[in-house]
Amino acid sequence: DRAAAASAPITDGALADGTAIPLLANLGNPDGADDAVALGAEGVGLFRTEFLFLSSNQAPTVEQQRASYTKLLAAFPGKKVVVRVLDAGADKPLAFLNDAHEENPALGLRGIRALRASEDILREQLTALAEADAATDADLWVMAPMVATVEEAAYFTDLARDYGVKTAGVMVEVPSSALLADRILGHADFASIGTNDLTQYTMAADRLLGSVASFQDPWHPAVLRLIREVGEAGRTHGKPVGICGEAAADPLLAVVLVGLGATSLSMAPTALADVRATLLQHSLDDAREIAQAALAANDAASARTAAQEAASSNK
Ligand code: PEP
Ligand code: MG
Repeated sequence: DRAAAASAPITDGALADGTAIPLLANLGNPDGADDAVALGAEGVGLFRTEFLFLSSNQAPTVEQQRASYTKLLAAFPGKKVVVRVLDAGADKPLAFLNDAHEENPALGLRGIRALRASEDILREQLTALAEADAATDADLWVMAPMVATVEEAAYFTDLARDYGVKTAGVMVEVPSSALLADRILGHADFASIGTNDLTQYTMAADRLLGSVASFQDPWHPAVLRLIREVGEAGRTHGKPVGICGEAAADPLLAVVLVGLGATSLSMAPTALADVRATLLQHSLDDAREIAQAALAANDAASARTAAQEAASSNK
């Protein structure tokens, strides 16, 4: 019953065969940390730092940032917390980083490109993160958004390590970096796939535009193939591959993502319980079979149906 379910201890994310799949929270503010823990987050897989500064006209100070990051990290002692450096631009413009006059801001100077063009801001953010890390006991991982080239991955991870970041990675949310994931993971300690942008850029459909919303479907086999590429690169290098886009919150798709090689899943905290329950019903071999069924489809709707059929046959 409901009361019993509410008081049952929350277990860590795992498959039916015991394979651990850490289930992490997407957060945009440290104030959400306690709720995320209560809902079963084993850590944070995506902290969107730009959300803290959407209304600021000026770049935040190191002190301001240190206070926010310290509050976040302090809520997860001993746990993994993946902080993303500012992802400014497109749907999340920051006045102090973006030029408001780009015609195609999703294809413009956003994410790591914008930070690189204002490198002082990136250096200050890394300084604040290093200070917050030193003051707390969480396991801090830091990653860059919108990485499109191997060179950008090397640039960011080298710079982050100069500031004492122990685990430096990149988001894979542009098809070029999915296709080159084997080389990117030669530099980065981990990859985290952002399925929202990866879908937008693979399907060439603005994620905010209702008229093309039917294209914004991470079940599309084209998107799944790119994710498989990253999963295989992670296996080859023995490095973690997380998922932090909305796709991870769809329980059946979460199984597919694990079958494609994802080693952790991060999502809105309210989605954690359903994903945890569904993962527990399938082994890693099942997940791989279900993923194969989805990959073999021609379109997003048939991929979902094929995965559903495969999942019900091996339950
Ligand atoms: C993504 O693109 O999937 C992602 C997690 O980043 P954001 O939604 O913040 O762009
Ligand atoms: Mg993104």
